[in-house]
Amino acid sequence: HTDAETDGDAVATLRTPIVAVLGHVDHGKTTLLDRIRGSTVTDGEAGAITQHIGATAVPLETVSELAGSLVDPTDFDLPGLLFIDTPGHHSFSTLRSRGGALADIAVLVVDVNDGFQPQTIEAIDILQRTETPFVVAANKIDTVPGWNPQGDVPIQESYDAQSDRARETLDERLYELIGELADHDFSADMYWRVQNFANNVGVVPTSAETGEGVPDVLTVLMGLSQRYLKDAMAIDVEGPGAGTVLEVKDQKGFGTAIDVVLYDGTVRADDTVVVGSTGEPIVTDVRALLQPRPLAEIRTEKRFEQVDAVSAAAGLKIAAPDLDDAMAGAPVRVVRDRSREEVVQEVQEELAAIGVTTEEE
Ligand code: GDP
Repeated sequence: HTDAETDGDAVATLRTPIVAVLGHVDHGKTTLLDRIRGSTVTDGEAGAITQHIGATAVPLETVSELAGSLVDPTDFDLPGLLFIDTPGHHSFSTLRSRGGALADIAVLVVDVNDGFQPQTIEAIDILQRTETPFVVAANKIDTVPGWNPQGDVPIQESYDAQSDRARETLDERLYELIGELADHDFSADMYWRVQNFANNVGVVPTSAETGEGVPDVLTVLMGLSQRYLKDAMAIDVEGPGAGTVLEVKDQKGFGTAIDVVLYDGTVRADDTVVVGSTGEPIVTDVRALLQPRPLAEIRTEKRFEQVDAVSAAAGLKIAAPDLDDAMAGAPVRVVRDRSREEVVQEVQEELAAIGVTTEEE
């Protein structure tokens, strides 16, 4: 982690931006996530992609390795990207954090053949409303007639290897897509032509199936994060943890547990946490913090390992008593060094902001 100066004396750490993948059904969201998860340096090596609960972490080293000459890792000081594993705008809009959307940045996947569809439009409206920076993955370029697939390479390399005919067909489809983005008030262009990403959306031709252009998507996400999210990513990593519940489910040997994406601070195995629920916020003591075992150790019978502490941004499982009424989408807050009343009130206010009123009101 890199340290950055903040206003006061406190030293902030830059956390990993949280990325969501959105788009119309069947346009390739899941395949893209699978491809990103698969495009890994061997697990256990430095810079390997790691599986979190509900999320996948792609370190900067991996982005730079995949992207080759596209990325000079010294241009970046954010540590990488954390992809939420559940794609779709439903999860995007129900998963909130203090400031708004839980995801800091997004990939909008659009099938180049199919163009804008109802869920594409819904997704783009949500991105606009939440002012979330995003990149468009113009997906399934390998289905262009005559396309000659190239594998996990940057798009320019693949593009150069195509026939004139295939290139022209792709260009036509990409310009149609850029036109559709314009119809929805987004000035867009091929990402390599975009000078100012604050005013223009970058379009990246991809094939989630073959991997072409996937390094470019990762690169643009890193670049956008670095440019527009750096201040927001500066956190007091030692501070009390804050996160959002992804799921509530039974964990063998631990009772009911919550899957959480942590976007601020640290949660420790001896912390008290406040969790939003269908009724009053739950105040409970952590019994165990669980994370998936590294792939290298997956042969042991237990899929999860108990850890002492987890810092943002990360996905983890929190086992604690009384979590039965915890609610997906609700806030989770560590109490540490504060009064629990204060934290309960914080959680209640946040639930109210997302349209849930607790029994007390
Ligand atoms: P989702 O509903 O957006 O998550 O879409 P999926 O990832 O499930 O993809 C829908 C279908 O399109 C699956 O059969 C995928 O194999 C296929 N698909 C996804 N991406 C590509 C691609 O880049 N090229 C091709 N040829 N097929 C793709």
